[in-house]
Amino acid sequence: MIPYSRQFIDEDDIDAVVGVLRSDWITQGPKIQEFEKKLASCCGSNYAVAVSSGTAGLHIACLAAGIKPGDEVITSPITFVASANCVLYCGGKPVFADVQEDTVNIDPEKIKKQVSERTKAVIPVHFAGHPCDLEEVSAIAREHDLILIEDACHALGAEYKGQKIGSCKHSDMTVFSFHPVKSITTGEGGAILTNRQDLYEKLLMLRSHGITKEPNKFLNKDKVFFSNPESLILNPNSWYYEMQELGFNYRLTDIQCVLGMAQLKKLNKFIERRREITEIYKNNFKGNEFFNLPKERDHVKSSWHLYPIKLKNDYKKERRRVFDKLREKGLGVHVHYIPVYRQPYYQRLGYNTTICPKAENFYQREISIPLYYSMSAGEIDYVVDTILKTFKEIQASE
Ligand SMILES: *Cc1c(COP(=O)(O)O)cnc(C)c1O
Repeated sequence: MIPYSRQFIDEDDIDAVVGVLRSDWITQGPKIQEFEKKLASCCGSNYAVAVSSGTAGLHIACLAAGIKPGDEVITSPITFVASANCVLYCGGKPVFADVQEDTVNIDPEKIKKQVSERTKAVIPVHFAGHPCDLEEVSAIAREHDLILIEDACHALGAEYKGQKIGSCKHSDMTVFSFHPVKSITTGEGGAILTNRQDLYEKLLMLRSHGITKEPNKFLNKDKVFFSNPESLILNPNSWYYEMQELGFNYRLTDIQCVLGMAQLKKLNKFIERRREITEIYKNNFKGNEFFNLPKERDHVKSSWHLYPIKLKNDYKKERRRVFDKLREKGLGVHVHYIPVYRQPYYQRLGYNTTICPKAENFYQREISIPLYYSMSAGEIDYVVDTILKTFKEIQASE
């Protein structure tokens, strides 16, 4: 089976991991900060906080944003469930704004319609690695005093108007995932990038049980709490720490962080190859009568996490048949995504399935075809031939 996406691991990655396994620190050692610094400088942000998954990153980003029960957060329905679940974790209510037809990203005009007195944040998703309209979304966020969290789990390596996604030029925080299907991998893993020191410090604490070991942050500093408070607090080797918030163990390990650094070195190469493959698809599928191709707007550079094709009207009803046939022929195609509000859990919460007609329409027509760095020329040819042949068979059978 040629999967829709997969990781690429080379000897450099393996050597890096083995090196850490032979060292003193396999978790909570020096590699975490090293990885965070490299990630922040690669994307152009001030800070990065490495976490155990993209989902964990979205969760503590929402907590750092102050999302509480009763608060509403606007996000896209065409995404992985984690983009909305993070709001539910905080007791908040995800509100879905419909997507644009061309990019399948959240539509700023639809965000405006969904803003209420309770809205506290907006979480746009850079679907398939194509950056959303960040300037428009950030103008809305500023006007209504909303925190802007980019779900950039698809978009490490993407650019918007000459700036790397992750620079946080237009947002408060940006969340990445390092799951094996994403731009780079650490096994499981993720990170939150920000330019705001206050959010950075909150995120660090929430990542690790809500605990701080930094003497200048202690709350009990001024109280006569110890027999000799001065020495305890000023001594960095003391046993003393404070749990100040209810945090989690969402740490990434040193083992994963060296893998992340070895992968980050290959990021440009990964993205360039993905772009080359999309060019091959574009040239081979150009003008076909069966489906539309994903487009890239002029002012962005997509990281091409996915290659979503969209069946034309005449073939919409055949999506299931096309999908099954492609799977039979060894293409690990997928559908991205079932609109989040259609999930049984969200249905129990009472979400209406008629609120996002564009998302519904896209969901009925979409198929993600294989796209990843290590695809061979033969595999790319096979994908192209198999897809065209399959549609022709279906056409002939009608
Ligand atoms: C992968 C993904 C996540 C979750 O990331 P994990 O690292 O798997 O927890 C969140 N949002 C989107 C859009 C994703 O694609």
